[in-house]
Amino acid sequence: MSKILIIGAGAAGRVVTKKCLMNTSIFTDIHVASRTFDRCKKLKKECNNKIHIYKLDADIVTDTISLIKKITPAIVINMALPYQDLPIMEACLETNTHYLDTANYEPKETAKFCYKWQWDYHDRFKEKKIMALLGSGFDPGVTNAFIKFADQTIFDTIEHIDIIDCNDGDHGHPFATNFNPEINIREISQKGKYYENGNWKQTEPMAISKTINFPEVGPKKAYLLYHEELESLVKHIPSIQNIRFWMTFSESYLNYLKVLQNVGMTSIKPIVFKGKKIIPLEFLKEVLPDPAHISANYNGKTCIGCIITGKIKGQTKSKLIYNICHHKQCHDEVNAQAVSYTTGVPAMIGAKMILEKTWTGNGVFNIEEFNVIPFMNELNNQGLPWKVVDIDGPLD
Ligand code: NDP
Repeated sequence: MSKILIIGAGAAGRVVTKKCLMNTSIFTDIHVASRTFDRCKKLKKECNNKIHIYKLDADIVTDTISLIKKITPAIVINMALPYQDLPIMEACLETNTHYLDTANYEPKETAKFCYKWQWDYHDRFKEKKIMALLGSGFDPGVTNAFIKFADQTIFDTIEHIDIIDCNDGDHGHPFATNFNPEINIREISQKGKYYENGNWKQTEPMAISKTINFPEVGPKKAYLLYHEELESLVKHIPSIQNIRFWMTFSESYLNYLKVLQNVGMTSIKPIVFKGKKIIPLEFLKEVLPDPAHISANYNGKTCIGCIITGKIKGQTKSKLIYNICHHKQCHDEVNAQAVSYTTGVPAMIGAKMILEKTWTGNGVFNIEEFNVIPFMNELNNQGLPWKVVDIDGPLD
């Protein structure tokens, strides 16, 4: 049915590519471009040569435009880094091509992310009659869908949400991140932010923590972080008065991170090393394990869900919607760990929604702006089954 171009052949991009290959009735012709061509070659081999590959630096808009013109894909799936969101959106505008990503734009020189930069493209995408679907990973992505699903099918109004994210797995490395180390460390070193009684509140990084009883996992210490779906959900579901995001980290992970921060290795300020300017965090990324290749001995599972509280027929009720994903099953299926898998599968499903015209619209959209029932059904079909259970109240 459709030709697609995936940009980024890293940890999550590999999963998108392989899941698209499992859905060839929709994705008939798969093209993958990435900055380091060796990654593309390895991926092509893993895919039994069933994909077309290209070397591309997507920071160079003219190069991306040329490649899109050559391939003429129906959609570009951006699985590179948040820095490339705007350049790739520009290339999609120039070539009238739909766009999808899994993380919102972040400027390289400032560790700050927000949707404004991408929402500002709405009118230009609308004018060109094309769609940009933002944040079609797990969180953001599936978490937005869980909340919209609850809004559409369970609650009359939603008031309070806690998004809870636990990786209860062990990869056997002393310190490794589960997605791009640079983006991951920038995210968790930022100040915390949450929405309380209709107002945004800020905290120092990792200043608030609590023990959460994760379903099928048990009690784990989780930390309050700012996550981008909070911004879009508050905008699109205005009844929400309180929303927070919680993520677990092991004590060992936090100790390593503290040491790295204290010695300056997580800094994004350039330093001069042997006459050359380098950014310590970029250097650190190069010496850490590659999240695309840590799945071989990864045990355990991820548990990500949303505790949603609101009114059903005048009564206050709480529900938990969640998914469990096993690292080993992901490794056996697509040679990836569960964090890449839970990112890549919803990216493929988001693209499927657009190409099948299940989701239509001109402009820039977040997942919760659509009818999410078809997306939720696909999660069950494509390897990310979910459950809804009753739960006592929101978290304290
Ligand atoms: P990786 O670092 O493993 O992969 C990124 C890939 O993009 C690499 O192959 C990299 O190339 C390539 N790339 C980087 N810059 C460019 C460029 N200028 N032009 C072309 N290719 C480029 O990261 P992940 O796969 O872990 O993450 C991918 C995206 O997914 C990120 O935006 C991340 O934030 C997002 N994510 C979203 C999640 C969600 O649930 N919503 C969860 C996890 C991740 P090279 O090999 O040269 O470095």
